[in-house]
Amino acid sequence: MSARGHVSLVGAGPGDPALLTRKALARLRRADLVLYDALVDERVIGLARRAQRFFVGKRAGRHALSQHEIHAVMIRAAKRGRRVVRLKGGDPFVFGRGGEEALALQQAGIPFDVVPGVTSAIAAPASAGIPLTHRGLSSAFFVVSGHDRDVFSAAIGALRPNAITIVVLMGLGRRAEIASELLSGGWDRTLPAAIVADGTLPRQQVWRGTLGDLADGDVAVTGGGPALIVIGKVAALDVAGADGVDDALSARGAVAVHARRTR
Ligand code: SAH
Repeated sequence: MSARGHVSLVGAGPGDPALLTRKALARLRRADLVLYDALVDERVIGLARRAQRFFVGKRAGRHALSQHEIHAVMIRAAKRGRRVVRLKGGDPFVFGRGGEEALALQQAGIPFDVVPGVTSAIAAPASAGIPLTHRGLSSAFFVVSGHDRDVFSAAIGALRPNAITIVVLMGLGRRAEIASELLSGGWDRTLPAAIVADGTLPRQQVWRGTLGDLADGDVAVTGGGPALIVIGKVAALDVAGADGVDDALSARGAVAVHARRTR
């Protein structure tokens, strides 16, 4: 194996390219090969100017490559001495299968590192003005996948109702069932809830209501972008503030500068 071969599991952040870390930017600029997922913004992928770029995610319900094939491609490329970036939305270790990829690389003896990203679980609520913890309202937050009923039930079963903030990823399609299940578990109908779609992007949408509204299907969210659900007292807060001064990365033109929000 060439000494140069290396894989970086890189978090691309929640959407807004200006939320990419400096380390992620450095890895992208040096990459020979980038394997990216569906939720990664094209402007971020474009930063890997000298790399071959391949989409390996899931589109229209179909995987371009199986998880096993992704492992095989990364390992083979690194053995040939290439610098590979495996680019994932948000943080690679938050529902991104980054852990499995790290294990596969470890077992194959491939040098690799992990570059954390800003997770949508925190950044999308923040961009909608929702702090996940807030003195007097919530002293903890719980991030859970809503995709699978059994997994969701098992995860929330241990929580004391109404006590902390719940953030549900991959749960938009099952929002009514998720809310009904929480209601049966003793969570209040009047508890604030919010949906943030396309968080941190100019097309961001925010819906606010209650857990009862969610259960009743009384929700207006249009568009097919990624969305998450926030449940808990903090979901009624709206403290996003106004657009500030863009950071140096954006200002230098390395990343396009965007109007942050329309509401
Ligand atoms: N690793 C990612 C999460 C992958 S799971 C991270 O750390 O952010 C994909 C889910 O993340 C989506 O179904 C959606 O629930 C959420 N998500 C990703 N980007 C989002 C965004 N910009 N706004 C709202 N939710 C988002």
